Amino acid sequence: MMIVKKRWSSMRWKIVFIYFLLVFIATTIIGVFIMSQLEAHYKNSIRDNNSDTVQTLLASFQGYENLKNHQEEIQSNIVSWSKGVQQEIFVVDDDFTILASNNENHVLKSAVELLDQSIILSGLGGDIDEAEGILKAQNKDIPVINMVFPIGDEDQIKGVLYLREDMTSVYETIDQSKFIFVQAMAIALLITVVLGFLIARSITVPINDVTEKAEKMAQGDFSQEVSVKSDDEIGRLAEMFNLLRKQLNLTLSEISNEKSKLETILKYMADGLIAVNLSGHIIHANAAAMTMLNITGEDMDKKHYDEIIRVYNENLIFEKLRENSKDGGVADVFLYGGSTFAVRYDRFKDENAQDVGIIMILQDITERQKLENMQMDFVANVSHELKTPLTTIKSYTETLLCGQVDDQETTMQFLDIIDTEADRMNRLVKDLLQLSRLDYQQEKWYKKESNLISLLKAVVTKVELTAKNKNQHLNYIFDENQRILTVIDKDGIEQVLLNVLSNAIKYTQEGGRIDIDALQSGKDAQLIIADNGIGIPEKELSRVFERFFRVDKARSRGMGGTGLGLAISKQIIEEHHGSIEIESKEGKGTKVIITLPLSHARGRKNIE
Ligand code: ADP
Repeated sequence: MMIVKKRWSSMRWKIVFIYFLLVFIATTIIGVFIMSQLEAHYKNSIRDNNSDTVQTLLASFQGYENLKNHQEEIQSNIVSWSKGVQQEIFVVDDDFTILASNNENHVLKSAVELLDQSIILSGLGGDIDEAEGILKAQNKDIPVINMVFPIGDEDQIKGVLYLREDMTSVYETIDQSKFIFVQAMAIALLITVVLGFLIARSITVPINDVTEKAEKMAQGDFSQEVSVKSDDEIGRLAEMFNLLRKQLNLTLSEISNEKSKLETILKYMADGLIAVNLSGHIIHANAAAMTMLNITGEDMDKKHYDEIIRVYNENLIFEKLRENSKDGGVADVFLYGGSTFAVRYDRFKDENAQDVGIIMILQDITERQKLENMQMDFVANVSHELKTPLTTIKSYTETLLCGQVDDQETTMQFLDIIDTEADRMNRLVKDLLQLSRLDYQQEKWYKKESNLISLLKAVVTKVELTAKNKNQHLNYIFDENQRILTVIDKDGIEQVLLNVLSNAIKYTQEGGRIDIDALQSGKDAQLIIADNGIGIPEKELSRVFERFFRVDKARSRGMGGTGLGLAISKQIIEEHHGSIEIESKEGKGTKVIITLPLSHARGRKNIE
């Protein structure tokens, strides 16, 4: 329901008031004009009437030289003439004596007391004059009009004819007319107020509607539609309002989409973003930035940017950022707590190109740098690994080519060394190629359900001879008739087992013992190969899966190792959703545990 505030200052009441005022002024002017005209009309008609009628009387006085001498004659003339006449008639001599009157009480009395002297004087001066006055009667005042007409010629005025007429009825008529007029005016004003109210309503209701809807819009409710009822200015206003609402709604939803898009981007951005205003307060920091700088939302509200950043790098305080970025964006790198951060920042401006603050992007590049270092190490390692056999091959072939070696046995020995080194290079390149295939996930896997026990038996058979040559005892703990089914690429897992078993043989002294076990544990299969060999020092243990890592480089190389075996094994096992762990004690022995999911646990999709 529409709530219209009824204020006296509202437009509706203003319109009503203006209408009222206009009609009031117009009717008052008309009223005053009509009334004055009416009054003048009455007086004129009295004047004209009297002027006409007194002419005969004045004519009858023409023959008298002296009025006093004919007093009786004049009196009887007046009395007879004034029968049926309402006015009082007086004939006043030039010495102010009332010579005759139809009111016989006043005859021969002085006119000074009874009549208006000023107009008598005018009359005696030869002018026709009149004046209104009040006649005091016993209990009321009677409005009268007094008129004088000179008797005699201009050069010899003998006296005046004085007429007094009661104006009560005239004023009563005028008053009544006034009363009727005021009544009419009151009715007109009443109608004006009602009509004004209705007209104002037809204007203000749609305006109020628009105002009310605009108010709701200001509060964020954009569902408001104003109904367009007319095609006049107000209708246009309503139409424009609806258009405005639509446009605003559209623009706002576009803005809010953009905002939420931006917010999502900022939220999930791996880089930290911080916006600082000119007073040095953080106005925005995304989740990544908060984690990197170890700050909470509360810190952002309470702490100054400088207070937070100073801990990390003194060069990043607000004033320095502003100073450095005066010619554009700046990139920098700093170290903190073992991590490396790349930072980029620039000033951001408002629509008038005025500085608003600084935006800073923080990137934790520790991992990237590690990776870059690893890549560099890798290239160095590969080059080194290849260089050693190549140098050996080169020196032996050069010796042979020189023709210095002439006995068959030494030649054969040299050729054997060259062959071994070539084999080593071959192995190394093969391993590197396999690693690269694993890295780029180009290795083809032919996974099918297989019994791990039979695979293990087959692999053990392959290394049995090597172990025997070192007088080592291969101890089978597992039940040979058992079936442990897993979905695996047989060649891949065989390569892993061969690598782990040959490591166990390689790094265990003669006469040592190697325990081989296979079991099911929950949803997993476990293969455990434990030796009592030389073991791995604790500080090196975490690095055994790194590429080219070897505890004792010379020893490993001497045994034909490339340092890539465990790295490849780990990747193969991970491709099978399993894990490989290594436990060791220097001088005591090493235990490798390979875990693979059992086939029934992973479904039978790829099973033959
Ligand atoms: P390598 O070709 O040198 O054997 P691996 O990646 O297979 O390379 O092994 C990495 C290193 O881990 C070896 O050089 C060796 O020092 C150590 N290592 C692996 N297995 C054993 C083990 N059973 N006993 C002692 N050390 C081992």
